[in-house]
Amino acid sequence: MHGDLSRFGFATRAIHAGQAPDPTTGAVAVPIYQTSTYVHDELGVHKGFEYARVQNPTRFALEELVASLECGHSGHAFASGMAAIQSLMTWVKSGEHVIVSRNVYGGTYRFFTQVLERYGLSFSWVDTTSLSAIEAAWQPSTKMVFLETPTNPLMEVSDIAAISELAHGKGAILVVDNTFLSPYLQQPLTLGADVVVHSTTKYLNGHSDAIGGVLIAAHAEHGDWFDFIQKSAGAVMAPLDSFLVMRGIKTLPVRMDRHETSARKIAAFLNEHSRVRAVLYPGLESHPGHALQKRQATGFGGMISFDVGSLAMAKQILDRVQVMSLAESLGGVESLISHPASMTHASVPEEKRRELGLGDGIVRISVGIESIDDLMNDLESALS
Ligand SMILES: *Cc1c(COP(=O)(O)O)cnc(C)c1O
Repeated sequence: MHGDLSRFGFATRAIHAGQAPDPTTGAVAVPIYQTSTYVHDELGVHKGFEYARVQNPTRFALEELVASLECGHSGHAFASGMAAIQSLMTWVKSGEHVIVSRNVYGGTYRFFTQVLERYGLSFSWVDTTSLSAIEAAWQPSTKMVFLETPTNPLMEVSDIAAISELAHGKGAILVVDNTFLSPYLQQPLTLGADVVVHSTTKYLNGHSDAIGGVLIAAHAEHGDWFDFIQKSAGAVMAPLDSFLVMRGIKTLPVRMDRHETSARKIAAFLNEHSRVRAVLYPGLESHPGHALQKRQATGFGGMISFDVGSLAMAKQILDRVQVMSLAESLGGVESLISHPASMTHASVPEEKRRELGLGDGIVRISVGIESIDDLMNDLESALS
């Protein structure tokens, strides 16, 4: 299959978009073009490829694929999710202001506060589940709203369509970090967002074997800038990693279905358990963001947080699980369990964590695709 696949369904595009058979050999998988440069036919004549920081066919295939899945104008692949976010933030200039979900990924918080503030950018950390809180934080210099929905690990859900309308009315752009749901479950650009970010390290690759990130732009204006930043700043994704992410994406729909089916069972189990004080999973009807997420996404994903009340109880669970591995990261085929306050969110100051409700008793699970009985038994014995 070649060319514009936009009339095809998501699972068809996941396997074919950007991945026409190799013209030289007919290879079904896009080859890994492990080269740094390309020979010119003669002075001033080349095949569209000059130097691999700027052009690489394997990376281009992945970029076309993610653009197709997010219904965007163009995709841009970077060496990590943070490299993608760093490249994104070159859109904002010194003296300008950004409104950010108060509970974003810890690395994003660290980069904005400890690096970008040094360059004269300013940030407001806002409860983006509330439109009026966003309006209250607005400044004349606000140029961007940066959301995660649902957030990590508190699972707060923000209204992408309403916030994009608000931002556009005031001349700012809306960026959504869509790592937690993947484009299979949520497509922010179709709801009005201007740019989507992913750490491909998580669900898109899905096999916990490569670090990477992508930006998908809805408009040429931003897409052209990200091309220029790839060329000028150079934090591009390597060809082998581009291949691995593409291979992972082929099974994204079946993996996400399985992640979610198992997550729903685990959330229901935890919700009934006497040792568990609260379960944060948007798929539960009792979750404050349930109705909104049902409207703006096609599912609830595979991430669950739950509160067991104390560090000691959290430690017991983390020490006792055998099938689930104690590790940072998420979105892989294997189930990972973690303690956000001391692991992924250790860079968020303690009083800030308390303010957010990110207590020491919160445990986060990235539900993998192992046999569900083994996962349930593992948790049952860890909690007993
Ligand atoms: C992991 C993650 C990132 C950072 O991505 P890396 O690939 O680790 O650099 C950004 N946002 C979210 C939501 C993440 O989970």
